[in-house]
Amino acid sequence: MQLYEQLPYWLIKDGIVAQYPSLSANLRVDVVIMGAGISAALTAWHLRNAGLSVVVLDRRHVGMGSTAASTAFLQYEIDTPLTVLRTFVGEENAVKSYRLCRDAIYSIEGLCKSLKPKFDFHRVPSLQYASFGTHVTNLKKEYTLRRKYNFEIEWLERKDIANKFGFEMPAAVLSEDGGEVDAYMLTHALFRDFCRQGHQVYNNTGVQDIQHHKRGVTLQIKNGLKVEAKKLIIACGYESLKYVPKKIGDIHSTYALVSEPLPKEYFWYRKSLIWETATPYMYFRVVNENRILIGGRDDPYHHPHIAPHIISKKTAQLVAAFRKKMPHIPLKADFSWVGAFAVTRDGLPYIGCIPERPNTYFALGFGGNGITFSVIAAEIIHDMILGKKNENAAIFDFNR
Ligand SMILES: Cc1cc2nc3c(=O)[nH]c(=O)nc-3n(C[C@H](O)[C@H](O)[C@H](O)COP(=O)(O)OP(=O)(O)OC[C@H]3O[C@@H](n4cnc5c(N)ncnc54)[C@H](O)[C@@H]3O)c2cc1C
Repeated sequence: MQLYEQLPYWLIKDGIVAQYPSLSANLRVDVVIMGAGISAALTAWHLRNAGLSVVVLDRRHVGMGSTAASTAFLQYEIDTPLTVLRTFVGEENAVKSYRLCRDAIYSIEGLCKSLKPKFDFHRVPSLQYASFGTHVTNLKKEYTLRRKYNFEIEWLERKDIANKFGFEMPAAVLSEDGGEVDAYMLTHALFRDFCRQGHQVYNNTGVQDIQHHKRGVTLQIKNGLKVEAKKLIIACGYESLKYVPKKIGDIHSTYALVSEPLPKEYFWYRKSLIWETATPYMYFRVVNENRILIGGRDDPYHHPHIAPHIISKKTAQLVAAFRKKMPHIPLKADFSWVGAFAVTRDGLPYIGCIPERPNTYFALGFGGNGITFSVIAAEIIHDMILGKKNENAAIFDFNR
């Protein structure tokens, strides 16, 4: 599957930051993880801390799947508003999901602080504005429900938005709990720490076949090698769909661009993450102090390739939509790319086991909050493998 086309900004900026070998001998371990993106890095890190022997295999290079293409907004607000999510999973579980995503942002912050050297993490507020006057009533209901459960948010009227953000929109919700991180570099930082204690990560080591036994799994690797493990974690991002017998998500294509550098005076209130109520939504934020990242304009997944002229057209549309909102900012696109993106019916990820694949755990953080979902997946799978009860696991179960 083509996970993205044209080089994402992070790959150009950060490049090859570490090298890992390909597998050259059979292995036997406690836990094997397929995939070496942010989901695998967080899960491997938690399990390593629990004293298990863990090996990570990737058919590409560490972090070069969807993690490299991510625009890395860290928000607790998932793509499905709380007022809608409660109709799918009940109010209690909907609120728990939102709280878990909020906690995940602060877990990432804590983890970044604990790494040596400390990893850059920024707390940033997030603003969701009503795209049209007709969206204000539903946004107000969303605000009222979240206030009821003590989320730290503020209601902004047109003039407040104009004063703080420099554009005109009918209403918005400003949330204190948000963050940003370079997900590609964080993946490398976690794996660097993971390998320091003798655990291994392999690039160019695609799993071709999975055999399940009573006592574990045997993975067949491309060059005839085998990895045997008591437990398998599938963290193959959107390519994990082929390991699940039922349909659990749809794949979309989503577009992103990073602008040329701009002077500081063009940025808005606390460089907040900004998104909207329309579906699909457009979003933007400041990256690396002086550039603006814009994303959105999603459409159904283009198989197998997206022609460069479509990416150029989408880039022009994103720039035009941004300029309409912020005509005083002379934004020009510098880098643009398109990525695959899986969405689920209720907007929640799938985490845990299916009966068809014994001794196997899935970490599938689908949706716009993929990275916060990866944190939740790492915590739940850690508990499941260690035989500890995790009271949140049922919310993300395949049979919900
Ligand atoms: C344009 C874009 C913007 C996004 N913006 C955000 C955002 O703002 N906030 C957010 O939270 N999320 C965002 N996401 C989603 C986020 O990027 C993903 O949720 C996250 O990166 C998924 O990480 P992962 O580790 O699960 O998957 P990946 O990073 O894709 O890692 C999976 C790995 O598995 C490997 N693999 C696959 N099959 C095999 C096999 N058979 N054997 C061995 N290895 C295999 C792949 O090579 C890959 O490296 C965005 C995604 C895109 C594309």
